[in-house]
Amino acid sequence: MTATLASPQAGVHPDNQVPELKDYNLYSSDPVLRRAVARGGAQWREAELLRQGAEYGAEATLRAAEDANRYAPELVAFAPMGQRIDQIKFHPAWHQIMAIARRNGIANLPFTDARPSAWTAYGASLFMHSQIEAGSACPTTMTKACIPVLRRNAPLYALTAPLLASLEHDARDIPLVQKRSIAVGMGMTEKQGGSDVRTNTTRAVPAGSGPWGDEYLLTGHKWFFSAPMCDGHLALARTDAHGPSCFFVPRWRPDGSKNPIHLLRLKDKVGNRSNSGCEVEFHEAWGVRVGEEGRGIPTIIEMATYTRLDCALSSAGLLRQALVQALHYARHRHAFGRALAEQPMMTELLADLALESEAATLLAMDLAGRFGSDEALDGAWRRIMTPAAKFWVCKRAVALTGEAMEVWGGNGYVETSGPMGRLFREAPVNSIWEGSGNVMCLDVLRAIARQPEDAQRLLEHLHGVATAAAAPPLVAQVRQLRAALAQPPAELERQARRFTQRLALSAQACLMLQHASAEAAGAFISSRFDPDWGPVTGISSGTSEPAALLRAAWAG
Ligand SMILES: Cc1cc2nc3c(=O)[nH]c(=O)nc-3n(C[C@H](O)[C@H](O)[C@H](O)COP(=O)(O)OP(=O)(O)OC[C@H]3O[C@@H](n4cnc5c(N)ncnc54)[C@H](O)[C@@H]3O)c2cc1C
Repeated sequence: MTATLASPQAGVHPDNQVPELKDYNLYSSDPVLRRAVARGGAQWREAELLRQGAEYGAEATLRAAEDANRYAPELVAFAPMGQRIDQIKFHPAWHQIMAIARRNGIANLPFTDARPSAWTAYGASLFMHSQIEAGSACPTTMTKACIPVLRRNAPLYALTAPLLASLEHDARDIPLVQKRSIAVGMGMTEKQGGSDVRTNTTRAVPAGSGPWGDEYLLTGHKWFFSAPMCDGHLALARTDAHGPSCFFVPRWRPDGSKNPIHLLRLKDKVGNRSNSGCEVEFHEAWGVRVGEEGRGIPTIIEMATYTRLDCALSSAGLLRQALVQALHYARHRHAFGRALAEQPMMTELLADLALESEAATLLAMDLAGRFGSDEALDGAWRRIMTPAAKFWVCKRAVALTGEAMEVWGGNGYVETSGPMGRLFREAPVNSIWEGSGNVMCLDVLRAIARQPEDAQRLLEHLHGVATAAAAPPLVAQVRQLRAALAQPPAELERQARRFTQRLALSAQACLMLQHASAEAAGAFISSRFDPDWGPVTGISSGTSEPAALLRAAWAG
């Protein structure tokens, strides 16, 4: 496959319009990702990741991603003669993209491959997939995240394990026992509240016991219910005896009849348009309990721990794609006598974007790798840094997909010109779902309060890296984190966003010191901890050689 990545010396097209970036390899052209895969011990996946990288950059995949978003899913609630069917009609491109996601391991890899480095391999695939079509990552990553939760119901897991482990996308709307693979979603959020799921009102009434476990009938609603064509959802409902509990609610009951889960309306979303999301009602919908009765919130939150990692990986992917598209454009487009990329202020902006992308990739991929480890530091890092990374990387993607769009000038704002609008509209959802920004910051504090020794261990580690590298601004940041923890809890909560930002930036700075070039690490630290650094006027890469930094970011 011939890459059509621009070189900075490429000639100017007569009309100064930029050729589409296509038929390139997302993996081989990303040195930061490749090094992260090697560091995470996932070299065994190298050939497959190279194949995936070419697949994601191929023109056919780009067209399918575009079509899956342009021709949005439609709700078909009723058959022609009025029977409820509660189906979603998709453009064929959606299934093409779903097949790629599934084949590339995004629905199961870390739970089907016992190697701890499978988490790193998985992270690399999701990172690339999200760059090209993020909507399909929703049902596929939820499927992966439900696997450890479903294991809590042994008979149900015995039945579903091979279907979850399959690399095939089977979209048929038939009972799961007849399928070659299944997808599973999550239903928590009701009208009264998503962050505060304790207010949920959906009721579950015991209905005996069967081969799949303890059975219940669920009545109520979900205000957000993504990917309703999944073969089942893990849903939260309260029992009269014990309160919130977690249930597996399939689309079809075991007797082969359709489960009464009524799809009411599709959400008309800002972005993420390829993925269907809807409002539903359960009318005595059949479900089996997963986990202990009354322990539904911690049971389903385990799933959210994994999907929060996914949000960080996916937003790091959006940042990478924003960088790549901005660089490609600025190297081809000329204004005022030279390529945009060579205009000093633009070089600086792009270098800042490159630093942000590298730091986001390092944080997300490093976090993924720690999910496969039992080491004490990795556990502490996972518990505290998962919500911190989700908060910070997703927020940065919201800001910088907008900045990258502007690098394209007016073309950036036009859907038919390229993917910039889609990247921009995609970014906020990762920040909102699976726990919005403030809730993530509260989660960081909650993790610290629950196991203060985790925070000790994590800050000790960050301090060690900062002092070994003789990086005084970073040492000062870690000192401030420690001082913040000594404050009364109410004060700390008031400042939770600032604390989480400082924590995420400090972790990124340490990772840059450990794994990036000395030039990039130095630039990251001197810019991010400069009081003048800010989202607009303070954009500064802090490097004396921004052009060198850009050359290193783009190995195409
Ligand atoms: C496209 C899309 C798909 C979704 N799919 C699903 C799905 O499949 N399944 C599902 O269960 N849910 C889904 N959701 C719901 C999503 O998880 C919730 O919207 C999200 O968790 C926030 O809940 P909420 O909307 O009720 O907002 P609220 O809980 O009302 O929060 C509103 C704001 O207040 C902030 N806030 C809340 N509590 C505090 C506090 N104590 N201190 C400070 N600030 C606070 C939040 O951070 C947020 O910014 C989806 C949402 C979207 C947008």
